[in-house]
Amino acid sequence: MSIASNGQRPSASVSLDADNLWSYMKTHGDAGWEARPSYLDRFVPHVLAVLEDLGLRITFFIVGLDAADDRNHAALRRIPLAGHELGNHSYEHEPWLHLYSREQLEQEIDRTDQAIERATGVRPVGFRGPGFSWSPALLSVLESRGHQFDASTLPTYLGPLARRYYFWTARLTPEEREQRKGLFGSFSDGFRPVKPYYWRLPDGRRLLEMPVTTIPGIKTPFHLSYLLYLAGFSEAMMMAYLRTAIAVCRFSGTEPSFLLHPLDVIGGDQVPELRFFPGMDVPSDRKTALLGKVLRTLGEHFELVPMGEHARRIRERGGLPERRAA
Ligand SMILES: [Zn+2]
Repeated sequence: MSIASNGQRPSASVSLDADNLWSYMKTHGDAGWEARPSYLDRFVPHVLAVLEDLGLRITFFIVGLDAADDRNHAALRRIPLAGHELGNHSYEHEPWLHLYSREQLEQEIDRTDQAIERATGVRPVGFRGPGFSWSPALLSVLESRGHQFDASTLPTYLGPLARRYYFWTARLTPEEREQRKGLFGSFSDGFRPVKPYYWRLPDGRRLLEMPVTTIPGIKTPFHLSYLLYLAGFSEAMMMAYLRTAIAVCRFSGTEPSFLLHPLDVIGGDQVPELRFFPGMDVPSDRKTALLGKVLRTLGEHFELVPMGEHARRIRERGGLPERRAA
């Protein structure tokens, strides 16, 4: 039996931000990213095979620039053909989206929606901002474009720590540092809810928010990158942390939105260009085995579905709180 087939448990959604080779190179400050080198022809078949083995359907958030690039079309088309959903992950993948004007945001969202639809024949169901960046204007643009949800918030107190680590590891000019000073959010992001809610927009309309789940209460992350980081010390530690996260979610009635990244699933053996990245010394087979273990454990407690499906169930159930987007 696949891990996604029992209808008795609460739901959880799984998604993957399909960050491409060039975006990792750009983040790290490496020359050559401007030619937009892509590994999607390697990564997509690998991750689709892993998900098929697990019997899982998830949501892939795609960057508009990648969808607009013919070189990626064959790989991207395979994603919905395998039964997965597509989401919009911005056009340029710039984590300072919160600084964009409304006009820039409209262009960013529309170009990406159109490029994804042209490449795959499928419209994105929702949006996640690069680097968890968002703004009230962005939410309003998403709602006006018929997006079912936003998934850009990461309610954690650890954002400023993550930023300090990134500034310390990346090669950046003072201007680049200035542009990136809001990256990973502020301490106050920790006070945002972990459970889904509606953003109430200035014109009275509303948009469903599905935060990337952190452990309710302590708000530490439990997306896969963080779990794999723990597995680097000890797999038992990773599993203990995961079981704690699941227990707190169950106890607090939180249905998780669980986030994956490409480098959680693929190692330096398949992407030698990124060997220098933390964790890329772990072979793909080992990452795949850990991913399977984590998702099977989650699947024992939750029915794992793509985000659009999860959003539909949440809306139908009703009774969600609202927050003013300002
Ligand atoms: Zn991303």
